Amino acid sequence: MKTEAYPPWVVLHIPHDSVFIPEDVRSSFLLPDLELEAELRRMTDHFTQALFAGRRGSAAVIRAPVSRLVVDVERFADDAGEPMAARGMGVLYEVTSHLTPLRDRAPPAEREALLNAWYHPHHDALEAAVAAAVDGYGQCLVIDCHSFPCIALPYERAHPATARPDICIGADDFHTSEALAEAFVTAFSQDGRTVRVNDPFSGAIVPRSRYRRDPRVAAVMVEVNRGLYLNEVDASPLPCFDEAAAWIQRCCQSALRSP
Ligand SMILES: [Zn+2]
Repeated sequence: MKTEAYPPWVVLHIPHDSVFIPEDVRSSFLLPDLELEAELRRMTDHFTQALFAGRRGSAAVIRAPVSRLVVDVERFADDAGEPMAARGMGVLYEVTSHLTPLRDRAPPAEREALLNAWYHPHHDALEAAVAAAVDGYGQCLVIDCHSFPCIALPYERAHPATARPDICIGADDFHTSEALAEAFVTAFSQDGRTVRVNDPFSGAIVPRSRYRRDPRVAAVMVEVNRGLYLNEVDASPLPCFDEAAAWIQRCCQSALRSP
């Protein structure tokens, strides 16, 4: 199914789609291979690039090239400012999604090397893409593209029996206007889908230099329930994957067209 191109001022941020773990980082993990594979199945936002950007790559896409288990680019680099750090899941995870040990706390030099290799270049690329949109078009919208398991993982501290929506829209007080959030909710509510705002996940990413400073930079997070497109047992795409991807892209386009 054909999908339109995103407007040139849209940047798709895809932080959790990669399963790549470099060899030298692998050795710092405490899990045997099978357990690490299971953890990757649980924690990766599988195929989110294909879901949101499609195969034609029409939008500016900023995708983290390594797994979030290596470095989570969605977190603040400084543990003091990152609420998840207290849970052992700051920018460098020390625990798994089941809150069991993943790796020992990295010594400062190792931490710095990992951030220099994977975190800072990613954020520099996001800064540059947003700057290009603002300079060229006077505005930018960052769509922060995620997915979540249909049953909550222990680290989320949500009751696993709690029903989850099909789509979660994440909004930021400064960068997500009510109209923008509403446009995404309306678009994704078509076809009887359930949509919630900031539940089970909240917020949306904005480059550091613009954060709570530049109103020309808007942001919205779209979190897709993996049950819509993924076999969560083996992380393979469901037969309806292409339809799900086309639907997600259509909904984003439709939200962007609303006044
Ligand atoms: Zn994610």
